[in-house]
Amino acid sequence: MEEDKKSASRNTKQKGEILRVIRDAKGPLSVKEIHDISKKSIQNIGIATVYRSVNHLLESGSIHEIQLPGESSRFEISHLDHHHHFHCKVCDRVFDVEICPFPMENLPKGFTLDSHEIILYGVCSECNNSSK
Ligand SMILES: [Zn+2]
Ligand SMILES: [Zn+2]
Repeated sequence: MEEDKKSASRNTKQKGEILRVIRDAKGPLSVKEIHDISKKSIQNIGIATVYRSVNHLLESGSIHEIQLPGESSRFEISHLDHHHHFHCKVCDRVFDVEICPFPMENLPKGFTLDSHEIILYGVCSECNNSSK
């Protein structure tokens, strides 16, 4: 029983840490990226633990899944303001972009809009700087 309690509190701590990693990120993260970052703060954390925590966080609604075409799933914190994603083709990371370039008005008469998705592709500032 003691062991169970200990491992349960460890799981809670790891889940909290993984949530922090996702919250502090500049954009949605893949499980591999979450694993790479959380390794720095959680000793010996395995990819299976990251998967498990991500699933728990998904079920509880703390995070949600972002699926970009042809990419593995990424995860970001729920309830962010409206934003878009910028996919860097050099480092393969995805960044949040706060601007929305799509005019919400000017729709044809009688149309109402629920949502839209725009994905921006290019090179991030880090990759642009390192190529100079
Ligand atoms: Zn980049
Ligand atoms: Zn938008």
